[in-house]
Amino acid sequence: MTRMLNEATAFREEMIDGYVTAYSRLLRRVPGASGVIANDAPAPGKVGVVVGGGSGHYPAFYGLVGEGMASAAVIGDVFTSPSGEQAYRVGKTANGGAGVLFTFGNYSGDVMNFGMAETRLRAEGIDARTVLVTDDVLSAPPAEADRRRGIAGGFYVFKSAGASAARGDDLATVEELTRRTNARVRSAGIAFGGCTIPGQSEPLFTVEPGRMEVGLGIHGEPGVRVQERVPAREIAHILVDALLAEIPAGAGGEVAVLVNGLGGAKYEELFVLYSGIAPLLDVAGLHVYEAQIGEFVTSLDMNGCSLTLLWLDDELKRLHDATAETPAYTRIGPDVAHAHRAAAGVASAGAVTSATSETEEIAVVGGAAGAAARAALARAMAALAAIEDDLGRLDAKAGDGDHGAGMARGFRAANAAVTDFTGNARQSFVRGGAAFQDAAGGASGALVGAFLIAVGSSLPADDTEIDASAYARAVGAGLATIQQLGGAQAGDKTMIDALAPFAAALEVAAERNPDLAAAWRQALPAAEAGTRATSEMVSKRGRASRLGERSRGFPDPGATSLTAVLTAFGEAFGTEE
Ligand code: ADP
Ligand code: MG
Repeated sequence: MTRMLNEATAFREEMIDGYVTAYSRLLRRVPGASGVIANDAPAPGKVGVVVGGGSGHYPAFYGLVGEGMASAAVIGDVFTSPSGEQAYRVGKTANGGAGVLFTFGNYSGDVMNFGMAETRLRAEGIDARTVLVTDDVLSAPPAEADRRRGIAGGFYVFKSAGASAARGDDLATVEELTRRTNARVRSAGIAFGGCTIPGQSEPLFTVEPGRMEVGLGIHGEPGVRVQERVPAREIAHILVDALLAEIPAGAGGEVAVLVNGLGGAKYEELFVLYSGIAPLLDVAGLHVYEAQIGEFVTSLDMNGCSLTLLWLDDELKRLHDATAETPAYTRIGPDVAHAHRAAAGVASAGAVTSATSETEEIAVVGGAAGAAARAALARAMAALAAIEDDLGRLDAKAGDGDHGAGMARGFRAANAAVTDFTGNARQSFVRGGAAFQDAAGGASGALVGAFLIAVGSSLPADDTEIDASAYARAVGAGLATIQQLGGAQAGDKTMIDALAPFAAALEVAAERNPDLAAAWRQALPAAEAGTRATSEMVSKRGRASRLGERSRGFPDPGATSLTAVLTAFGEAFGTEE
C-alpha cells in the first residue's frame, strides 16, 4: 500500500519531479513530455535507445536511463502504458541522427502506443525500430513464445541495447544484439501477495494465506496455477525447472543470473532463495558468469520474485560488462579507463514543438451538431465516472484493474480539450479523441482514442447535414480503425463485440430512419447484447488473453465501457440543446 502521496491524480507527476531533481547529474525531463532523457543524449551518430511503459515497476524503466544504458524512458501512469503521443515526443527527442530503438515489455497497450510513435517517426524520415521483451516463459507456451510478456529479463535486453548504442554501433547492429539478448533470456516468477495502486485501500488481487501463485504477471495478471506455499529450496526447483525446460537454441553453458524481488520480498529472502538456485544450476552443468540479486522490475509492493537466466556468448558478455551509470544501476567495466564523461546539461536538442496536426485545423464555427458532439463527450465523461470503480474491478478479474481509471481520465481530458471550443462535430470529436488518447494510455486509450478520432474525421465538415446515415458511416470507420490497430475479430472478447453489432444495427436503422436520435436508440440493444455475450467468451486479445479459460464467466471490460459510451452518446443526441 502507498502511504506517502498527496492527491493520487498527481502521483506520477510528483514522482517524476522528485526523481529528476535528485538525479539531475544523470538525466533531465524531456521538455513537454512525460519522460526523461540521459544528459549525454541525444548524441550525434549514436542510436537513441528508448524504453518505457507504465510506472510502478521501478527501477524499470526510468531508473535505467543514463550513460551506457537507456537513452530515454517514456513514463506512463501506474501500470498503464504511456500514450503514443508521449512515446513519439520522447523518441523524437532521443534521436541523435542515427535512429531510435524502442524496447519494452510485450503488453498490448505498449505495443499499440509505441507502435504509433514508431510509425510517426518513420513518416518523418527517422529510422525507428522496436524490440519487444518476451522473457516470461510461464505466460504462454513455447509454440507461442512471441506472445509472452516481458518481465525482469528486460534488464538484460536494455543493458545490451544501451551498451551497443553507447559504443557507436549502427541501428541495425543495436537492433540485432537487442533481439539476440531477448531470444536468449528466460524468466519465471511466483507471488505470495498482491499490490495496491497508490490512493487505493484494497490490493488489486490477493493470494490466499499459505498459498502461492506460480507465473503471476507483474500487473497482477493471474498465474498459471495456485499451489501450497513451499520452502525456498522447493521454490528454487520450480523456477530453475521452468527455465531449464526452455534452453534457447544454440546456447552455450554460461549464464548470467538475475534474482529479482517484486517489491515486497526482502533481499535477505532472495539470498536464501539463491542458496538453493546456485547448486541446481551447477548440477545442470551451467556455469554462472555473474549473478545479481535485488530489485530490477518491481510491481509496486507485490510480494514475490522471479528468476532470470541469460545464456551468454562473447558478444553478449562484452555488452553485459560494459560501463553504465544510471540512478538504479551502476557498473564499472573494462572500458572505464577510456570513458569520457560527457558534461551534463547538453543543449536540449530536438524538443518537439509540433502538436498533433489534426487539432491544428482552423476551427470553423460549428452548429447544433458540434454542440451535440460536445454534449456526447460530456455525457460519456459522467457515465464513465459513475462506473469507474466497477470497471476497475471487472478489469482486475483477468487484467490489471486500470480500465475504469483510464477511461474516466480519457473522457475528462477529452472534455477539457473541447471546453470553450465552438467548432463543428468533426473537429470536436477529433480534438476530444486526441486528448483522450494522450491522457488515457493503455490498450483502451489507444483504441478508444483512435475510435473517436476516426468518427470525427469521417463526419462531414458541414454541421447541417449530419443525420443517422452520416453517423453510421462514421461509426463504421471507427470500428475499422480499432480493428486495424488492435487486430481483434468478433468473438475475441473485446470492445469489438459491442461495437461491431452496434455499427451494423445503426446502419440498418439509419436506412429506415434518418433521425439520428431514433436510429441510435434502435441500435443500442445490439451493443448491450454483444456485451452480454462476451461473458461466455474466452479472451484472445490484450492482457486477459493469457488466462485462457480463466477469462470466461464475466463480461469484457472494454465492451462494457464502450456500451456505456454509446448509451451516453445516444442520450446526448436525443436531447435538444
Ligand atoms: P490494458 O490492457 O492496457 O490495461 P485497458 O484495461 O484499459 O487496457 O483495456 C482493456 C480492454 O481493451 C479490454 O477489455 C478489451 O475490450 C480492449 N482491448 C484490449 N486489446 C484489444 C485489441 N487488440 N482490440 C480491441 N480491443 C482490445
Ligand atoms: Mg487494464
